[in-house]
Amino acid sequence: MLSSLLIAGLVYQYDCRTGRLRNSSFVKYVFPRSVYLHPSAVTDYKFVAVDLSIKLLVYVPLFSGISWLLYKSLYSALRPIGVDLSSSVLFSSAFMPGLVGFILADFGFFLSHYLMHKIPVLWVFHEVHHSAEVLTPITVHRVHPVEELLNGLIGSSISAVGAATYSALSAKDLVFFEIFGVNAISFIFFAFAFQLRHSHIWLSYGSVLNRILISPAQHQIHHSQDPQHWDKNFGFTLAVWDACFRSLYVPRAQEAIRFGLPYGDPSDFSSVSKLYVLPFKKSLKVLRRTREQQSTVKNATSA
Ligand SMILES: [Zn+2]
Ligand SMILES: [Zn+2]
Repeated sequence: MLSSLLIAGLVYQYDCRTGRLRNSSFVKYVFPRSVYLHPSAVTDYKFVAVDLSIKLLVYVPLFSGISWLLYKSLYSALRPIGVDLSSSVLFSSAFMPGLVGFILADFGFFLSHYLMHKIPVLWVFHEVHHSAEVLTPITVHRVHPVEELLNGLIGSSISAVGAATYSALSAKDLVFFEIFGVNAISFIFFAFAFQLRHSHIWLSYGSVLNRILISPAQHQIHHSQDPQHWDKNFGFTLAVWDACFRSLYVPRAQEAIRFGLPYGDPSDFSSVSKLYVLPFKKSLKVLRRTREQQSTVKNATSA
């Protein structure tokens, strides 16, 4: 939060110097009432107060347990057939487990985010995050528990498979903390303007670095209502996954963005209970529609 505030200060200075910003104090620039007191932001605050406590009490122990069990069983299975590469440069360095863990976790996040956009029954849960009409650092937690469950299952499974493969090849059984401890590379990323991705402050890393790392501006584009921005920039840290899946959008200049869903009624997402319940109702409708379509196709082919 503090580092993001510091970087927001630099962006403010730059905007003042280039004449983009006039007659605005720093506090009004960073915390405009129109954003932080917007009904959508107020819903975020209420939702997060309820949701974070559930996630911390249930999800954190659940995913840690799944990942640890999967790691232990895969490691025991892989170790006897593993080749001992512990002396090779790749496995002797202390930096490698962190790098491998970081790349796998980042790909896991990309994959579950990608699936959430492409599979209709999952989209209705991810829609909760995209229904935010203004972005504040709290919006990062505006995530339905079903989405969090999918993220956690995919993320912890990929991390466990990666950690077990690494351990088997390096002949080094990792301890619990080494798998779940804060990854140093992720920490650096979080410390660099992470909070600005859910904000009104535009910060792009430039046309070259935006192809390697997802900048705050690129995540804001992901939240845009403009059709040319839909299904772009799914990545969390690395932009390379988006480049591989042809979903990378690199802005050439600052763009005016309208956040939120380009369809429907914003009042559908105006309360905590609606954010929880509506996706379940919608997912039942999607499943029913899919079943009807399947039976129509079956009838047509049998006729
Ligand atoms: Zn999304
Ligand atoms: Zn977001």
